[in-house]
Amino acid sequence: MNSIYASLGTTVFETMSRLAAEKGAVNLGQGFPEEDGPRDILEAAARATLEGPNQYPPMRGLPALREAVATHYMEHQQIELDWQREVTITSGATEAIAAALLAFLEPGDEVVLFEPMYDAYLPMVRRAGGVPRIVRLQPRHWRIEREALAAVFTDKTRVVVINTPHNPCASVMTRGELELIAEFCRGHDAICVSDEVWEHVTFDGVQHVSMLEVLRDRTLKIGSAGKMFSLTGWKVGFACGAPALTEQFAKAHQFLTFTTPPNLQRAVTYALGKERDYFDDMRASFQRSRDRLVSALTAGGFVTLPARGAYFVSIDLTVSGIAMSDVDFARHAIEHGVATIPLSGFYAENGPRNLVRLCFAKRDETLDRGAEALIRAKRSA
Ligand code: GLN
Repeated sequence: MNSIYASLGTTVFETMSRLAAEKGAVNLGQGFPEEDGPRDILEAAARATLEGPNQYPPMRGLPALREAVATHYMEHQQIELDWQREVTITSGATEAIAAALLAFLEPGDEVVLFEPMYDAYLPMVRRAGGVPRIVRLQPRHWRIEREALAAVFTDKTRVVVINTPHNPCASVMTRGELELIAEFCRGHDAICVSDEVWEHVTFDGVQHVSMLEVLRDRTLKIGSAGKMFSLTGWKVGFACGAPALTEQFAKAHQFLTFTTPPNLQRAVTYALGKERDYFDDMRASFQRSRDRLVSALTAGGFVTLPARGAYFVSIDLTVSGIAMSDVDFARHAIEHGVATIPLSGFYAENGPRNLVRLCFAKRDETLDRGAEALIRAKRSA
């Protein structure tokens, strides 16, 4: 059987959520909001289900949804998209990334990745025949530097996968960083697959800049309704990019999932039209949760890294006075009643062992119980 999958374990998110459920621990591990998104969106999905049709929608997605995606990005990011030629609806962002890699890579092509990276990227790149060329980013700010790019781009580079806002780093790329990557993509005739699923989740006034603004003809931008509307289980994603990229992308998509549930597509069409206030309130509410968790942890002697985007914050164990590795501390913390995600799983190999990620998209009471459990775990670490 395929050796790439044979050598893999189960994803850390699934493992930690299962352990949390088994042990009755507070789940600050896997990234999902504790509360489902707005009632009116759920009702739109219920109505769409009952009214139908529930048969195969068009392969690239419902026209109304593709149009709504284009309108949304014009309003929120001033990006002009031709919905007929530049937008595809996918079954979640992970499917979009898989389809992009399958569509754009030939075996042996090099793919530039930045670590830590979302755990799905590396196996998908390898399975698509890509040869990973990895830039390691450094805490606390995880900045992208010219020398690091110069060291990994070669004449074999075909694709660069970026993620902004970043999971798990919670950093947000600046326009300058995007321009730097764009310069290397142009210079090496490479395509940028830009995972922007956290685009609406930024804090402290930080603005998300889309790679599509900076590198219009060579970027496939990936978005996620699950992240925008706190409905992560819906798995409705958007892939947006120039006609030539979209054309090729759709060929891979049509034989992966072919299409995405039409009732959910109709509900997301409705959701994308939400007022700007909805997005502002969501950001403000996640920011309050971040602040609540971080201040409880700080009071308990923990040191955290900056969290400027996505609903995650990481603890630096070493600086917090904990000698255990991230994996050991995560096991220990579960016993004290809280699930976390060790960051070493986001590295190809030999990642730092002193960082654990927490998801703060939770109710106040859950955050408080999580922080108390972490503090108990720290005392006996
Ligand atoms: N994106 C989620 C996270 O980072 C995990 C999604 C999943 O479990 N596949 O925690």
